[in-house]
Amino acid sequence: MKNKLYIVATPIGNLGDISKRIADTLSEVDFICCEDTRVTGNLLKHLKITKELISFNAKSETKKIGYVIERIKKGESCALVSDAGTPGISDPGIRLVNTAINEFIEVVGIPGPNAAILALSISGLPTESFVFEGFIPQKKGRQKKLKELAEEKRTIILYESVYRIEKLLNELSEYMPERFVVVCRELTKKFEEYWRGFPSQLIDEMESKTVKGEFVVVIASLGWKEKE
Ligand code: SAM
Repeated sequence: MKNKLYIVATPIGNLGDISKRIADTLSEVDFICCEDTRVTGNLLKHLKITKELISFNAKSETKKIGYVIERIKKGESCALVSDAGTPGISDPGIRLVNTAINEFIEVVGIPGPNAAILALSISGLPTESFVFEGFIPQKKGRQKKLKELAEEKRTIILYESVYRIEKLLNELSEYMPERFVVVCRELTKKFEEYWRGFPSQLIDEMESKTVKGEFVVVIASLGWKEKE
């Protein structure tokens, strides 16, 4: 394992999704870079692993990269995890991966959960080609992005927070009312559910639903019709 950087996916809710390889890697590396030491600390507790944790998040990434790379070059192995899902996907990590590659450090991916791909795979919407946009801008640039997305032909995957999910559905009913949408809430968790319909239908239905938790929004490719 010496001199390697492991990019390790972790559960997006259900701890049963930890594979043997994920657990083995976290147990065998010398140290783990993580977003929130409390979140990863709990995961390690569940796995009965004691390991050095280094806080590595959007704020500290720039400061810590050099230190992490030096340790790997000196012979240690490091796992990078995020709070949930696959590191680097709407989460920190890509700059560390890039630096490692430039420094000729071997980067090994340990696959596992990712909310976007899981949502797409159960959406029933076309998967041959799709675009992942993560979180669209909260304020400045949001309208421009929505206009752009309205022109997008492929299936679109978005992440949205609980604070803006209703706003997003209202915006979709304005910018792309004809496109079928699947909202996936709390994937892999106890209150997992899917809302399927056109944006205006979903807004009406929302009144009777619990609007809590985490959301992935999958928007059908242009012209796609239900029961095709
Ligand atoms: N790196 C993560 C991944 O691989 O999916 C994504 C991290 S991003 C900071 C967090 C967002 O991912 C949430 O706001 C939500 O949009 C989506 N997400 C993560 N877990 C989810 C879940 N269990 N159910 C639905 N959406 C989820």
